[in-house]
Amino acid sequence: MPHDNHNSPNDESSDLPDEMTLRVKSLETILTKKGLIDPKTLDEIIDFYSNKVGPKNGAYVVAKSWTDDKFRTQILKDPDKVLKELGFFGRQGEHVVVLENTTEVHNLVVCTLCSCYPWPLLGLPPSWYKSDEYRSRSVREPREVLREFGFNIPDEQNIKVWDSTAEVRYLVLPMRPEGTDGMSLEELSSLVTRDSMIGAGNPISPRRTDE
Ligand code: FE
Repeated sequence: MPHDNHNSPNDESSDLPDEMTLRVKSLETILTKKGLIDPKTLDEIIDFYSNKVGPKNGAYVVAKSWTDDKFRTQILKDPDKVLKELGFFGRQGEHVVVLENTTEVHNLVVCTLCSCYPWPLLGLPPSWYKSDEYRSRSVREPREVLREFGFNIPDEQNIKVWDSTAEVRYLVLPMRPEGTDGMSLEELSSLVTRDSMIGAGNPISPRRTDE
């Protein structure tokens, strides 16, 4: 399956920008000089996905799925249609599959070749998602990788790892935390972390008040 931008291996411990960053910067300079792109527009695109989309759209979808069974059924069955209606559609998110976590199955998303990610739902990918280590190890030893994220998956729960591509992006639907009965959609959305929608974490648990 094709991916968007196949990264060359890079040394994250170096102080120098990695090879891909340098290549992208060189390309940007050439295209700007030739008048083919406007750096201001590029900055606006990056700002839009980093700050305005963020993971908020995905969090809304998750919270809505927790509170509305009909919506959850629809988004699992025909995510593209539902996401289009919500306006959470477009660049880097043309075809999305929603993966529901259950007590039996935990879903984890990776892009083994580069950094394919559902931008309209989660914004731009975190740096660890693009790292060589995550991309290779999450497939080989997902349970161990998740443990290093501080996320212990019980032995009886299976882990399914999904490899994103340019064609298919994934959104994990984490399980609703206990102690959230009666919460509003907005309150629930605030519990949904970015990592929980990649499968690399849990939503925030509100149970601390009654402990
Ligand atoms: Fe990719």
